[in-house]
Amino acid sequence: MLPRRLVRRLRRVADLLGFGDRRCLRCGAAFAPGRNDGTADGLLCAACLAQLPPMKGPRCRRCAFPFPDSAPVAPALCGDCLRDPPPWRGMACYGRYEGVLRDMLLELKFHGRFLLADALAPLLLDSLLCLPLPDALVPMPLPLPRLRQRGYNQVQELALATGHLLELPVRPELLLRPSCDTPQSRLRAEERRRNLHGSFIASPDAAGLRLWLLDDIFTTGSTARAAAQALRAAGARRIDLVTLARTPLHPAGR
Ligand SMILES: [Zn+2]
Ligand SMILES: [Zn+2]
Repeated sequence: MLPRRLVRRLRRVADLLGFGDRRCLRCGAAFAPGRNDGTADGLLCAACLAQLPPMKGPRCRRCAFPFPDSAPVAPALCGDCLRDPPPWRGMACYGRYEGVLRDMLLELKFHGRFLLADALAPLLLDSLLCLPLPDALVPMPLPLPRLRQRGYNQVQELALATGHLLELPVRPELLLRPSCDTPQSRLRAEERRRNLHGSFIASPDAAGLRLWLLDDIFTTGSTARAAAQALRAAGARRIDLVTLARTPLHPAGR
């Protein structure tokens, strides 16, 4: 965390001293600081920002499933959330898991380019307006063996960058994931839920807190459900889910 803060400060000093153009974090193109629209902390050029559109249109309040534009009146909740309500209250989600957003999340996840978290976190701010401010942010943990193997949790980097912007504490110690489950991508949604059951351990310190559970990508929601259930069982007062991206698949399509 320290090196990232240091880099951020050095960039600020360089800006103040007027050292030339910046390089866009994604495409490497030079751009003059201050010429983009101020989002993404001046880390991305205007062309890359334009390729990071937020989700638009009506969507489910609990899982961000986008309702078709043709729907005459968009309901508040999708059929899945009505049938089987998720253990969180509200959900904020920035964009669809495709294009540049997908590329950046993959780069952050597999190549540990932590500054990308600083570029992505500001995108979330508008989406978060639909949620009440929490007492703390909880990043979705990686299973411990995978964390040891990778050496970092990209979601924690996103949580730290978001917490920094909103001056909110980040509490990764409230939720742990000690077991190494089968990689989720190989399982169907129902199997995912069974596989995840009991694999999260929430700290009793979560009791009474309003929490934002933060994840990078929402796919079927089974991981988020298991994590939120553990936090609820530990006595969390309210949980809202925050994700950068959502796959276009509806949970019903599993
Ligand atoms: Zn760029
Ligand atoms: Zn829903």
